[in-house]
Amino acid sequence: MTKRVVSGIQPTGNLHLGNYLGAIRNWVRLQDEVAQGGGECFFFLADLHAITVYNEPAALRANVRSMAAALIASGVDPDKSVLFNQAAVSAHAELAWLLNCTARIGWLNRMTQFKEKSGKDREGASIGLFAYPVLQAADVLIYKATHVPVGDDQKQHLELARDIATKFNTDFETDLFVLPEPMIPPAAARIMSLRDGGSKMSKSDPSDMSRINLTDDPDAITAKLRKARTDPEPLPDDPAELAARPEARNLVGIYAALADLPVADVLARFAGQGFGAFKPALAEIVVETLRPISARLSELETDPAELDRLLAAGAAKARIAAEPVVAGAYDALGLNRETR
Ligand code: ATP
Ligand code: MG
Repeated sequence: MTKRVVSGIQPTGNLHLGNYLGAIRNWVRLQDEVAQGGGECFFFLADLHAITVYNEPAALRANVRSMAAALIASGVDPDKSVLFNQAAVSAHAELAWLLNCTARIGWLNRMTQFKEKSGKDREGASIGLFAYPVLQAADVLIYKATHVPVGDDQKQHLELARDIATKFNTDFETDLFVLPEPMIPPAAARIMSLRDGGSKMSKSDPSDMSRINLTDDPDAITAKLRKARTDPEPLPDDPAELAARPEARNLVGIYAALADLPVADVLARFAGQGFGAFKPALAEIVVETLRPISARLSELETDPAELDRLLAAGAAKARIAAEPVVAGAYDALGLNRETR
Protein backbone atom coordinates (compact mmCIF):
# COMPACT_ATOMS: atom_id res chain seq x y z
CA MET A 1 0.00 0.00 0.00
CA THR A 2 1.35 3.43 -0.86
CA LYS A 3 1.63 5.87 1.97
CA ARG A 4 -0.81 8.71 2.19
CA VAL A 5 0.25 11.16 4.86
CA VAL A 6 -2.10 13.90 6.09
CA SER A 7 -1.00 16.67 8.41
CA GLY A 8 -2.24 20.12 9.39
CA ILE A 9 -0.55 23.14 10.89
CA GLN A 10 -2.11 26.13 12.64
CA PRO A 11 -1.66 29.29 10.61
CA THR A 12 0.54 31.84 12.38
CA GLY A 13 2.28 34.95 11.14
CA ASN A 14 5.62 36.58 12.02
CA LEU A 15 7.42 33.32 11.54
CA HIS A 16 10.81 32.80 13.13
CA LEU A 17 13.73 30.38 13.19
CA GLY A 18 12.00 28.34 15.93
CA ASN A 19 8.97 27.78 13.69
CA TYR A 20 11.26 26.84 10.81
CA LEU A 21 13.41 24.33 12.71
CA GLY A 22 10.63 23.03 14.95
CA ALA A 23 7.84 22.67 12.42
CA ILE A 24 8.23 23.85 8.83
CA ARG A 25 11.45 22.02 7.98
CA ASN A 26 9.97 18.75 9.25
CA TRP A 27 7.25 18.97 6.63
CA VAL A 28 9.75 19.53 3.85
CA ARG A 29 11.66 16.45 4.96
CA LEU A 30 8.53 14.40 5.36
CA GLN A 31 7.38 15.40 1.88
CA ASP A 32 10.64 14.29 0.29
CA GLU A 33 10.78 11.04 2.25
CA VAL A 34 7.19 10.12 1.41
CA ALA A 35 7.56 11.08 -2.27
CA GLN A 36 10.63 8.86 -2.50
CA GLY A 37 8.56 5.87 -1.37
CA GLY A 38 5.94 6.63 -4.03
CA GLY A 39 3.45 8.04 -1.52
CA GLU A 40 1.88 11.47 -1.25
CA CYS A 41 1.34 14.14 1.39
CA PHE A 42 -1.73 16.27 2.03
CA PHE A 43 -0.70 19.34 3.99
CA PHE A 44 -3.25 21.89 5.15
CA LEU A 45 -3.38 25.17 7.01
CA ALA A 46 -5.71 24.40 9.88
CA ASP A 47 -7.85 27.54 9.78
CA LEU A 48 -10.99 25.71 10.95
CA HIS A 49 -9.06 24.65 14.03
CA ALA A 50 -7.79 28.20 14.56
CA ILE A 51 -11.35 29.47 15.16
CA THR A 52 -11.94 27.17 18.16
CA VAL A 53 -10.62 30.18 20.10
CA TYR A 54 -11.27 33.78 19.09
CA ASN A 55 -9.14 34.79 16.13
CA GLU A 56 -9.29 38.28 14.70
CA PRO A 57 -10.61 37.67 11.14
CA ALA A 58 -8.15 39.92 9.30
CA ALA A 59 -5.25 38.39 11.24
CA LEU A 60 -6.46 34.88 10.48
CA ARG A 61 -6.68 35.64 6.77
CA ALA A 62 -3.19 37.14 6.78
CA ASN A 63 -1.74 34.29 8.85
CA VAL A 64 -3.03 31.62 6.49
CA ARG A 65 -1.20 33.40 3.68
CA SER A 66 1.99 33.93 5.72
CA MET A 67 2.18 30.33 6.79
CA ALA A 68 1.48 29.06 3.27
CA ALA A 69 4.16 31.38 1.90
CA ALA A 70 6.67 30.24 4.52
CA LEU A 71 5.96 26.59 3.76
CA ILE A 72 6.40 27.06 0.03
CA ALA A 73 9.47 29.26 0.46
CA SER A 74 11.00 26.61 2.71
CA GLY A 75 10.51 23.84 0.16
CA VAL A 76 7.01 22.41 0.49
CA ASP A 77 6.42 21.90 -3.21
CA PRO A 78 2.80 22.31 -4.35
CA ASP A 79 3.57 19.99 -7.27
CA LYS A 80 4.78 17.21 -4.96
CA SER A 81 2.36 17.68 -2.07
CA VAL A 82 -1.25 18.76 -1.93
CA LEU A 83 -1.11 22.08 -0.04
CA PHE A 84 -4.30 23.99 0.81
CA ASN A 85 -6.25 25.71 3.53
CA GLN A 86 -8.82 23.60 5.30
CA ALA A 87 -11.71 26.06 4.92
CA ALA A 88 -11.39 25.85 1.13
CA VAL A 89 -12.41 22.19 1.25
CA SER A 90 -15.91 22.07 2.75
CA ALA A 91 -15.67 18.30 3.13
CA HIS A 92 -13.72 18.82 6.39
CA ALA A 93 -16.60 20.64 8.08
CA GLU A 94 -19.22 18.37 6.53
CA LEU A 95 -17.64 15.12 7.61
CA ALA A 96 -16.87 16.55 11.06
CA TRP A 97 -20.62 17.00 11.61
CA LEU A 98 -21.40 13.48 10.49
CA LEU A 99 -18.69 12.13 12.77
CA ASN A 100 -19.93 14.22 15.72
CA CYS A 101 -22.88 11.87 15.64
CA THR A 102 -20.62 8.82 15.89
CA ALA A 103 -18.19 10.14 18.51
CA ARG A 104 -19.34 9.72 22.12
CA ILE A 105 -19.26 12.47 24.76
CA GLY A 106 -17.51 10.04 27.09
CA TRP A 107 -14.67 9.60 24.57
CA LEU A 108 -14.14 13.34 24.23
CA ASN A 109 -14.31 13.82 27.99
CA ARG A 110 -11.17 11.73 28.23
CA MET A 111 -9.14 14.02 25.94
CA THR A 112 -6.42 15.62 28.05
CA GLN A 113 -5.81 18.40 25.49
CA PHE A 114 -9.25 19.90 26.13
CA LYS A 115 -8.60 19.94 29.86
CA GLU A 116 -5.31 21.75 29.24
CA LYS A 117 -6.60 24.16 26.63
CA SER A 118 -9.84 25.10 28.37
CA GLY A 119 -8.01 25.65 31.67
CA LYS A 120 -10.15 26.98 34.50
CA ASP A 121 -12.89 28.30 32.24
CA ARG A 122 -14.27 25.00 31.01
CA GLU A 123 -17.82 26.26 30.85
CA GLY A 124 -16.75 29.27 28.79
CA ALA A 125 -14.82 27.26 26.17
CA SER A 126 -16.38 26.86 22.73
CA ILE A 127 -18.06 23.62 21.72
CA GLY A 128 -15.54 23.67 18.86
CA LEU A 129 -12.63 23.46 21.29
CA PHE A 130 -14.28 20.44 22.91
CA ALA A 131 -15.06 18.78 19.58
CA TYR A 132 -11.94 19.67 17.61
CA PRO A 133 -10.55 16.12 17.90
CA VAL A 134 -13.58 15.05 15.83
CA LEU A 135 -12.67 17.61 13.18
CA GLN A 136 -9.15 16.18 13.29
CA ALA A 137 -10.61 12.72 12.71
CA ALA A 138 -12.50 14.08 9.70
CA ASP A 139 -9.30 15.80 8.46
CA VAL A 140 -7.50 12.50 8.07
CA LEU A 141 -10.39 10.12 7.34
CA ILE A 142 -11.64 12.10 4.31
CA TYR A 143 -8.34 11.46 2.54
CA LYS A 144 -8.06 7.81 3.63
CA ALA A 145 -4.77 8.72 5.31
CA THR A 146 -2.61 5.70 5.98
CA HIS A 147 -0.15 7.60 8.18
CA VAL A 148 -0.47 10.65 10.38
CA PRO A 149 2.52 12.32 12.03
CA VAL A 150 1.73 12.82 15.70
CA GLY A 151 3.69 14.20 18.60
CA ASP A 152 3.06 12.92 22.12
CA ASP A 153 0.27 15.41 22.76
CA GLN A 154 -1.70 14.24 19.72
CA LYS A 155 -1.44 10.44 20.09
CA GLN A 156 -4.70 10.32 21.99
CA HIS A 157 -6.50 12.17 19.20
CA LEU A 158 -5.34 9.75 16.54
CA GLU A 159 -6.52 6.87 18.71
CA LEU A 160 -9.89 8.66 18.86
CA ALA A 161 -9.95 8.98 15.06
CA ARG A 162 -9.43 5.22 14.82
CA ASP A 163 -12.22 4.58 17.33
CA ILE A 164 -14.59 6.84 15.41
CA ALA A 165 -13.70 5.16 12.11
CA THR A 166 -14.21 1.70 13.59
CA LYS A 167 -17.56 2.56 15.15
CA PHE A 168 -18.82 4.19 11.95
CA ASN A 169 -17.69 1.24 9.82
CA THR A 170 -19.34 -1.18 12.25
CA ASP A 171 -22.58 0.74 12.85
CA PHE A 172 -23.21 1.31 9.16
CA GLU A 173 -21.75 -1.94 7.84
CA THR A 174 -19.19 -0.36 5.56
CA ASP A 175 -15.45 -0.39 5.03
CA LEU A 176 -15.43 3.27 4.02
CA PHE A 177 -12.91 4.57 6.53
CA VAL A 178 -9.26 3.52 6.57
CA LEU A 179 -7.67 3.34 10.01
CA PRO A 180 -4.63 5.63 9.98
CA GLU A 181 -1.37 4.59 11.66
CA PRO A 182 0.61 7.02 13.77
CA MET A 183 3.99 8.18 12.50
CA ILE A 184 6.30 9.40 15.21
CA PRO A 185 8.15 12.39 13.79
CA PRO A 186 11.85 12.84 14.56
CA ALA A 187 12.37 14.82 17.77
CA ALA A 188 11.80 18.44 16.77
CA ALA A 189 14.39 21.03 17.62
CA ARG A 190 13.32 23.40 20.38
CA ILE A 191 14.85 26.80 19.84
CA MET A 192 15.18 29.21 22.75
CA SER A 193 15.12 33.00 22.97
CA LEU A 194 18.37 34.80 22.11
CA ARG A 195 17.88 36.93 25.24
CA ASP A 196 17.07 34.13 27.67
CA GLY A 197 18.07 30.51 27.23
CA GLY A 198 15.28 29.50 29.60
CA SER A 199 12.36 30.64 27.45
CA LYS A 200 11.28 29.53 24.02
CA MET A 201 11.89 31.67 20.94
CA SER A 202 8.41 33.02 20.24
CA LYS A 203 6.59 35.54 18.08
CA SER A 204 4.86 36.92 21.17
CA ASP A 205 8.11 37.86 22.93
CA PRO A 206 7.99 41.69 23.11
CA SER A 207 11.69 41.95 22.21
CA ASP A 208 12.43 41.49 18.51
CA MET A 209 16.07 40.88 19.53
CA SER A 210 14.94 37.60 21.10
CA ARG A 211 14.21 35.94 17.78
CA ILE A 212 15.38 35.62 14.20
CA ASN A 213 12.50 36.24 11.84
CA LEU A 214 12.39 34.45 8.50
CA THR A 215 12.24 37.91 6.92
CA ASP A 216 15.32 39.34 8.71
CA ASP A 217 18.09 40.45 6.35
CA PRO A 218 21.71 39.29 6.79
CA ASP A 219 22.70 42.43 8.73
CA ALA A 220 19.85 42.05 11.17
CA ILE A 221 20.62 38.36 11.69
CA THR A 222 24.31 39.04 12.27
CA ALA A 223 23.55 41.88 14.72
CA LYS A 224 21.02 39.82 16.67
CA LEU A 225 23.44 36.93 17.03
CA ARG A 226 26.31 39.26 17.97
CA LYS A 227 24.16 40.66 20.77
CA ALA A 228 22.72 37.27 21.80
CA ARG A 229 23.20 36.56 25.48
CA THR A 230 26.07 34.17 26.27
CA ASP A 231 28.54 33.45 29.05
CA PRO A 232 32.27 34.16 29.15
CA GLU A 233 33.42 30.51 29.01
CA PRO A 234 34.87 28.93 25.88
CA LEU A 235 32.88 26.10 24.30
CA PRO A 236 33.45 22.68 25.89
CA ASP A 237 34.15 19.48 23.97
CA ASP A 238 31.55 17.47 25.90
CA PRO A 239 27.84 18.15 25.20
CA ALA A 240 27.05 17.29 28.84
CA GLU A 241 28.91 20.42 29.91
CA LEU A 242 26.34 22.56 28.08
CA ALA A 243 23.54 21.40 30.39
CA ALA A 244 24.12 24.20 32.90
CA ARG A 245 24.71 26.82 30.16
CA PRO A 246 21.31 27.34 28.51
CA GLU A 247 22.36 30.21 26.22
CA ALA A 248 25.46 28.41 24.97
CA ARG A 249 23.48 25.24 24.55
CA ASN A 250 20.84 27.05 22.50
CA LEU A 251 23.34 28.63 20.09
CA VAL A 252 25.20 25.37 19.61
CA GLY A 253 21.85 23.62 19.16
CA ILE A 254 20.86 26.07 16.41
CA TYR A 255 24.15 25.47 14.61
CA ALA A 256 23.75 21.69 14.93
CA ALA A 257 20.17 21.79 13.62
CA LEU A 258 21.11 23.94 10.63
CA ALA A 259 24.24 21.97 9.78
CA ASP A 260 22.35 18.73 10.39
CA LEU A 261 25.10 17.54 12.70
CA PRO A 262 25.07 16.04 16.20
CA VAL A 263 25.92 18.61 18.89
CA ALA A 264 29.09 16.62 19.67
CA ASP A 265 30.35 17.19 16.12
CA VAL A 266 29.75 20.92 16.36
CA LEU A 267 31.64 21.00 19.64
CA ALA A 268 34.47 18.97 18.16
CA ARG A 269 34.87 21.79 15.66
CA PHE A 270 34.59 24.73 18.10
CA ALA A 271 35.81 23.36 21.48
CA GLY A 272 38.12 25.78 23.26
CA GLN A 273 36.92 28.76 21.22
CA GLY A 274 34.92 31.62 22.67
CA PHE A 275 31.74 33.18 21.33
CA GLY A 276 33.78 35.80 19.48
CA ALA A 277 34.70 33.02 17.06
CA PHE A 278 31.54 30.94 17.27
CA LYS A 279 28.94 33.67 16.71
CA PRO A 280 30.19 34.75 13.25
CA ALA A 281 30.24 31.11 12.13
CA LEU A 282 26.71 30.70 13.44
CA ALA A 283 25.59 33.92 11.74
CA GLU A 284 26.95 32.64 8.45
CA ILE A 285 25.05 29.37 8.54
CA VAL A 286 21.83 31.11 9.63
CA VAL A 287 22.18 33.73 6.87
CA GLU A 288 22.94 31.12 4.20
CA THR A 289 20.02 28.92 5.25
CA LEU A 290 17.53 31.76 5.34
CA ARG A 291 18.77 33.58 2.22
CA PRO A 292 16.84 31.54 -0.37
CA ILE A 293 13.84 31.21 1.95
CA SER A 294 13.45 34.92 2.61
CA ALA A 295 14.03 35.70 -1.08
CA ARG A 296 11.19 33.38 -2.12
CA LEU A 297 9.10 34.65 0.77
CA SER A 298 9.31 38.27 -0.29
CA GLU A 299 8.58 37.24 -3.88
CA LEU A 300 5.39 35.53 -2.72
CA GLU A 301 4.50 38.44 -0.49
CA THR A 302 4.63 40.84 -3.40
CA ASP A 303 2.50 38.45 -5.44
CA PRO A 304 -0.37 37.30 -3.20
CA ALA A 305 -2.35 36.33 -6.31
CA GLU A 306 0.25 33.66 -7.11
CA LEU A 307 0.01 32.36 -3.56
CA ASP A 308 -3.79 32.24 -3.74
CA ARG A 309 -3.54 30.46 -7.08
CA LEU A 310 -1.26 27.79 -5.60
CA LEU A 311 -3.59 27.31 -2.63
CA ALA A 312 -6.63 27.14 -4.89
CA ALA A 313 -4.96 24.50 -7.06
CA GLY A 314 -4.17 22.49 -3.91
CA ALA A 315 -7.75 22.82 -2.68
CA ALA A 316 -9.07 21.60 -6.03
CA LYS A 317 -6.95 18.44 -5.76
CA ALA A 318 -8.00 17.94 -2.14
CA ARG A 319 -11.70 18.26 -3.04
CA ILE A 320 -11.37 15.58 -5.68
CA ALA A 321 -9.75 13.22 -3.19
CA ALA A 322 -12.30 13.96 -0.45
CA GLU A 323 -15.52 13.91 -2.44
CA PRO A 324 -16.04 10.14 -2.81
CA VAL A 325 -15.43 9.59 0.89
CA VAL A 326 -17.88 12.29 1.99
CA ALA A 327 -20.43 11.01 -0.52
CA GLY A 328 -19.87 7.51 0.85
CA ALA A 329 -20.47 8.72 4.40
CA TYR A 330 -23.77 10.45 3.50
CA ASP A 331 -24.86 7.37 1.63
CA ALA A 332 -23.92 4.96 4.44
CA LEU A 333 -26.00 7.06 6.84
CA GLY A 334 -29.03 7.04 4.54
CA LEU A 335 -28.82 10.77 3.86
CA ASN A 336 -29.95 12.02 0.48
CA ARG A 337 -27.57 14.58 -0.95
CA GLU A 338 -28.62 14.21 -4.59
CA THR A 339 -30.46 17.51 -4.82
CA ARG A 340 -27.32 19.56 -4.18
P1 ATP B 1 3.11 32.02 20.31
O1 ATP B 1 4.12 32.81 21.06
O2 ATP B 1 1.90 32.82 19.90
O3 ATP B 1 2.77 30.72 20.95
P2 ATP B 1 5.04 30.76 18.62
O4 ATP B 1 6.13 31.65 18.16
O5 ATP B 1 5.30 29.85 19.77
O6 ATP B 1 3.80 31.68 18.90
P3 ATP B 1 3.30 28.92 17.34
O7 ATP B 1 2.32 29.50 16.41
O8 ATP B 1 2.86 28.58 18.74
O9 ATP B 1 4.57 29.90 17.40
O10 ATP B 1 3.92 27.61 16.72
C1 ATP B 1 3.86 27.22 15.35
C2 ATP B 1 4.71 25.98 15.19
O11 ATP B 1 6.10 26.27 15.44
C3 ATP B 1 4.37 24.85 16.17
O12 ATP B 1 4.49 23.62 15.50
C4 ATP B 1 5.41 24.99 17.26
O13 ATP B 1 5.68 23.75 17.90
C5 ATP B 1 6.63 25.47 16.48
N1 ATP B 1 7.48 26.31 17.31
C6 ATP B 1 7.16 27.53 17.80
N2 ATP B 1 8.18 28.06 18.49
C7 ATP B 1 9.18 27.14 18.45
C8 ATP B 1 10.52 27.11 18.98
N3 ATP B 1 11.00 28.13 19.68
N4 ATP B 1 11.28 26.02 18.75
C9 ATP B 1 10.77 24.97 18.03
N5 ATP B 1 9.55 24.95 17.50
C10 ATP B 1 8.75 26.01 17.69
MG1 MG C 1 3.48 28.75 20.75
